[in-house]
Amino acid sequence: MFTANLDGKPFGQAVGKIICIGRNYADHAKELDNPIPSEPLLFMKPNSSLVPMAPEFAIPNDKGSVHHELEVALLIGKDMGSGATDDDLLRSIAGVGLALDLTLRDVQDQLKKKGHPWEKAKAFDGACPVSDFVGASVVEDWSQLNFELKRNGRLQQRGDSGLMLFSVVPLLREITRFFRLESGDLILTGTPAGVGPLIAGDQLEASLEDWVRINTRVLNHESV
Ligand code: ZN
Repeated sequence: MFTANLDGKPFGQAVGKIICIGRNYADHAKELDNPIPSEPLLFMKPNSSLVPMAPEFAIPNDKGSVHHELEVALLIGKDMGSGATDDDLLRSIAGVGLALDLTLRDVQDQLKKKGHPWEKAKAFDGACPVSDFVGASVVEDWSQLNFELKRNGRLQQRGDSGLMLFSVVPLLREITRFFRLESGDLILTGTPAGVGPLIAGDQLEASLEDWVRINTRVLNHESV
């Protein structure tokens, strides 16, 4: 079972569930011709999809295009159910980091056409590379987090959490209406515009403020 690192040490519990938010930035919803959601679109990835984001991670080479979606990831440190106050919800966040919500875009397009669930496209082995986390106390304002992804030296995605359609507290509130949060869970808060395909050999640089800096290389599963 994959365990996240917080402030350089393994977190107490293995990661449980990974709750992801779809279409949480209007510019990304538009680039894929998706409607702007009126409520948070939630889906999950399993622990088995987790891998470290650096120094390298592998993508499937036999399942069509694999898109990067860089997202701010929250590491939950306290159990929390429905009815928690906004302050309690914020205090449930132990750490903040980055994750790639890797997506088999061709597979997802087929599933969407058929009205089927997305798991094959989003929850496959290796679908969730994550960075190490830093303690959430570094965050002064959850609506002012800047993050970016460069691919082979070119800026590919630039995110500003102030542009989330549903910000951190409303997201946590909506999530806990349906799913109890448990210590070790992760939340992926959605991707800004600029998603695109990865290919083996790509060199990626990802950063979140000056707290998280990642240099990593994309391999394909054969070369692992
Ligand atoms: Zn995503």
